[in-house]
Amino acid sequence: DASVVMRVRVAPLGAAHVLLLAEDHTHARRVEEVRRDFVANVSHELKTPVGGISLLAEAVLDAKDDPEAVTRFARRISIEATRLGRLVQEIVDLSRLQVADTLHEPDLVEVDAVLHEAHDRVRVAADARQIDVQVAAQRGLRVFGDLELLVTAVANLLANAVNYSEAGTRVGVGARQVGDAVEIAVTDQGQGIPVGEQERIFERFYRVDAARSRATGGTGLGLAIVKHICANHGGEVTVWSEEGRGSTFTMRLPVAVDQTADDLAADPEP
Ligand code: ADP
Repeated sequence: DASVVMRVRVAPLGAAHVLLLAEDHTHARRVEEVRRDFVANVSHELKTPVGGISLLAEAVLDAKDDPEAVTRFARRISIEATRLGRLVQEIVDLSRLQVADTLHEPDLVEVDAVLHEAHDRVRVAADARQIDVQVAAQRGLRVFGDLELLVTAVANLLANAVNYSEAGTRVGVGARQVGDAVEIAVTDQGQGIPVGEQERIFERFYRVDAARSRATGGTGLGLAIVKHICANHGGEVTVWSEEGRGSTFTMRLPVAVDQTADDLAADPEP
């Protein structure tokens, strides 16, 4: 038991050490709680597609004399299997992000490139739903970080904007510098999020409308991943939303200042 170990080790140490050990202990317990919750949630979430696939496989066996039904069930098995694959991948991504608090070797990343790459990833889904995605980034903005993770974060926000909006509406993604932060904002004209739910949507597996999330192939992990990616980059993500009008998710990351930017700042021109 950790608390016993702590008491034994505390005796010969000073007050500062006792405090440190106590903090360590609380932290360790919290990490353990988070881990246990995560495992419980994960097994619950995995059971849904796995159960679905088993039932569908049985249906295929029962329907073997009806080729049309077999095709229909097989197609659904394929959809469920894809979803399961994505869920497993996101669980792995999220656990990696939760273990590492910060990035090891950040690169200088062009924000413009992040936005365009993220747009490419949701292009097919947006076209399928007839949603026009507009990209507008201020030139020359850079942050220190991991290109792949940043693209994942923005693509997750864009995928949600597309999934929770109606056909014919517009989605925008833009980036600008505000003080010493880069703000990347994803805006939609979709269904919006009730005020009481706006904080909870960043929790793992939390969904406002589980049926809608599942129908769009959602895993319930997208925003938790965005939140961890922002934290690992020394930033944060916030939401503004009004039901029936739409939502704006804003990632705020420290701007990367390099020599050229310093020179520009010294220039009296705006
Ligand atoms: P999911 O896979 O369910 O989309 P997320 O973590 O990405 O998981 O989002 C959690 C929930 O937050 C969603 O199920 C949805 O209810 C809500 N949500 C996220 N983005 C939006 C948005 N742009 N508009 C409306 N609701 C949203």
